[in-house]
Amino acid sequence: MKKQAFLLFTVIALVSTTFVSCGSAEKKQEGPIETAKEQYQCPMKCTEEILDKPGTCTVCGMELEKITKS
Ligand SMILES: [Zn+2]
Repeated sequence: MKKQAFLLFTVIALVSTTFVSCGSAEKKQEGPIETAKEQYQCPMKCTEEILDKPGTCTVCGMELEKITKS
């Protein structure tokens, strides 16, 4: 009887450990997300001006192009 109880405890411990590790793995994904800073610049590069939001070039009026920081 005692052996069975120990076995049951082991199984429960194993299962709960699996659930806990799963939960922490999901939490890791929720962690601080590195948001790539969006930058926009005129595709013709009329100016060196780089904006952090979409818009139009103040020189040629073209739609600003998104720059991906490398
Ligand atoms: Zn321009």
